[in-house]
Amino acid sequence: MRASLRKLATSIVAVITLVTTAGAVSSARASAAAGIPRPDDYFGFHIGSDGHLATWDKMLSYFQLVAKGSDRVNYEKAGDTTLGYPYVMLTISSKQNLDNLNRLTAINARLADPRGLSQAEAQRLAAQGKPFYYVQAGIHATEVGNSQAMIEIAHRLATDSSPTIKHILDNAVILMVPSQNPDGLHLVNDYFNATAGTNFNRTYPDLYQKYTGHDDNRDWFMFTQVESRLMVSIQNKYHPQVFQDAHQAGTGAPRMFTPPYLSPSDPNIDPITVQQTNAMGMAMQRGMTAAGLKGGQWGTTYDYWTPSRQYQVYHGAVRMLTEAASVSNLAYPYTRPTPIGDQQPDTNFIEPYDKTTWTLRQILDYTSNTFYTGIETLANDPYNWLYNFYQVGQRAVTKTSPYAYVIPANQRDPQAVRDTLDILHTGAVEIRQARTAFTAGGKNYPAGSYVIYLAQPYGGFAKTLLEVQKYPQLAEYPGGPPQEPYDVTAQTLPMLLGFSADLVKDPFQADTTLLQQIKPVPVTMPAPPAAGGAYALGPESYGVFQFVSDLQKQGVPTFRAAQKFTDGGREFPAGTFVIPPTDQARQILQARSASTGIPVSAISKVPGVDGVQLKAGTRIGLYKPPNNIPSGWLMWMFDQYHVNYQVIKTQDYEGDLSDKYDAIVLPDGVSKSKIVNGLNAASYPAEWNWAYGVGEAGWTKLRDFVNNGGTLVAYGSSTTTAQSLLELPLEPVLPTESSTFYSPGSLLSQQIDADNPVAWGMTADNPVWFEGNQAYRVTDPAKYDAKVVGKYPDSGEQLQSGWLIGGKYLNGAANSVAFKVGKGYVVTFGSEAGYRTWNRAEQKMVFNSLYYGPSQKLDADQFARLGG
Ligand SMILES: [Zn+2]
Repeated sequence: MRASLRKLATSIVAVITLVTTAGAVSSARASAAAGIPRPDDYFGFHIGSDGHLATWDKMLSYFQLVAKGSDRVNYEKAGDTTLGYPYVMLTISSKQNLDNLNRLTAINARLADPRGLSQAEAQRLAAQGKPFYYVQAGIHATEVGNSQAMIEIAHRLATDSSPTIKHILDNAVILMVPSQNPDGLHLVNDYFNATAGTNFNRTYPDLYQKYTGHDDNRDWFMFTQVESRLMVSIQNKYHPQVFQDAHQAGTGAPRMFTPPYLSPSDPNIDPITVQQTNAMGMAMQRGMTAAGLKGGQWGTTYDYWTPSRQYQVYHGAVRMLTEAASVSNLAYPYTRPTPIGDQQPDTNFIEPYDKTTWTLRQILDYTSNTFYTGIETLANDPYNWLYNFYQVGQRAVTKTSPYAYVIPANQRDPQAVRDTLDILHTGAVEIRQARTAFTAGGKNYPAGSYVIYLAQPYGGFAKTLLEVQKYPQLAEYPGGPPQEPYDVTAQTLPMLLGFSADLVKDPFQADTTLLQQIKPVPVTMPAPPAAGGAYALGPESYGVFQFVSDLQKQGVPTFRAAQKFTDGGREFPAGTFVIPPTDQARQILQARSASTGIPVSAISKVPGVDGVQLKAGTRIGLYKPPNNIPSGWLMWMFDQYHVNYQVIKTQDYEGDLSDKYDAIVLPDGVSKSKIVNGLNAASYPAEWNWAYGVGEAGWTKLRDFVNNGGTLVAYGSSTTTAQSLLELPLEPVLPTESSTFYSPGSLLSQQIDADNPVAWGMTADNPVWFEGNQAYRVTDPAKYDAKVVGKYPDSGEQLQSGWLIGGKYLNGAANSVAFKVGKGYVVTFGSEAGYRTWNRAEQKMVFNSLYYGPSQKLDADQFARLGG
């Protein structure tokens, strides 16, 4: 039945060309015959028409119908999202290819890892295989058009029997993730639909991915979010040659950006991958030209630098970023009195857009056009796409220098090493562990050390994460201001997380075994200490705050020594946690130690040094204004570590803030206006009343909170907020001209006073993350007993990794400063002490501060008695 109806459909659609503007029409005709409802009939409106957005629930049921009605489409739930919605992938190809999918996937895997494969075999496999095209839409949920486009594309590929579509399906396999962020599609589209006909703002005002918001595509090497891991699992399973990542840019942007990208490319990306990217990008632009879609541009704005946005390119695929211009209020026409956008043609912008209106329908048309041209380009030339993919793999596995990275065993922060191993393992990097001691590069390494040979398929991914970045000095024009990178410039994990990894240039011998799984290093719990003794937990690992959460939750008294001490001939640094040896404490410490690999010690005697007792059940308030991304990232960290925190609400200001909180943290971007004005009640309904402004009266209450004994921790631009709240004696020192001073996401030198409670457990030179932040001079150290905890060195090289112009302006400037304000405690960080959860070693200082402020201070006698 279905087959005969399809045949009929063939004759109707065969005449339809690939011009995407005609796509909706062609699919509409075909589908009636195939038993699959036409999108417009199913959704009840013309997809892409003004003011109409399909919901995720309805999209899912539609995709299931399409898969059920077509032998070209497989529907698969690949996992659950952060908020528990289905994360879905469609696999689309000819029936024959889908029946043969395991074999085609195996060919891709073999070409991706060609160790032991002869050139002749590679050529044979390239001839037998089919290239895979992975298209992802909707990661940025307010860029609503591209997910809607997937509805029509899926329908057309399932039902259209034109020679063009047949050619595509016979010669390529499509992996379609119609929304990389289903949570966001829910939040944004449902909110848009719910506010229809109201005077409220139509755009969902908060983060459209619970923790990361718009930064959800800045997570592609730390893999903190489940959606990132799902995406990576698709890449690692199928080894696609092309990855299209569909986005939207601003209303005035080019109507469609595609690659080629701007320089620079990360040197760890194979030049063949860059070349393939350029070729595909130019094909997409030609496709738009052929379809009469004006206003396309390439070679601007976006680059191929940070791995946080381009996992795929270290794994053999090209990343095709497509950015259609946006419309008004998500889904309504954008209109200007004159033609929209730049009107000056150029060699990378051949035809300016000549209309005064731009619609949602056009976003779908342009996005679909890039997709169809992309997949056709692949289907027209499958052998070369597969063979060049093989060549990228072949060059990776035959690299001879540098030879390897070695991560020594027994480092000061087991959590940092384990997080790194997990990142590399998730990124399909082979990690080997030494069974015995060995020598490499003239240095001895103990058994248990990790070896990452760089001659492996994804050695470049490991290398870019472990090495120091040297970003080129690029200017807008000779002598002009710096040419901005699209995102940040450094990703050196050893500096971000606080561990050491050695690059070894020349070959060496080591007896190693391949790690199949990343597990915590086995630890042995010491025997319970004798009377008068205690458990001790070093302050070095950022992971210790998981212990603190557990101890606090169970009400176990927890102390920290404020000075170093020795016990049994062993030295313990300032900040060491000291815990009375109850059975309950032992259970908690043992479980956490086993799950993290962070060792616990027993000391025979509680030392007679100054110290503190953490406040039982320390209550932390997280300032998280709607759509503030840094606070979202911190919230993720808090949730991972089970921190006892709440997001601060306007209603909290009805009483005193101290009724609810002991310590409050202002991540980057919490300005006074965000606190005082907040969301406007006229624009956002009552469900957002928690985020309405608290007014000047609230501002005063926040000040009172500190003066009456509260702790306030601020980082990044929120240092300015804390300063204006409390008149902190801080003066910014950095020039504002980017040609004079510039640091767009880099790791910088720091001198840290590890005896200060803010910095307990830090190394004295732990680098800091700096992205367009500020450094300070303390104008009046006596005011509030200001103590500089971290500062930039007085001279010498300030740059550790990334890019820095004008480092001398940092010389001697203060970064982190602790103050006693009234009865309260304030710590400010000019730099971003919690950036996307990347700089976890530095972020430990935020945790230290939040717990130290509310703690009870004990003198040596009191500490020796553990407060008793
Ligand atoms: Zn985007």
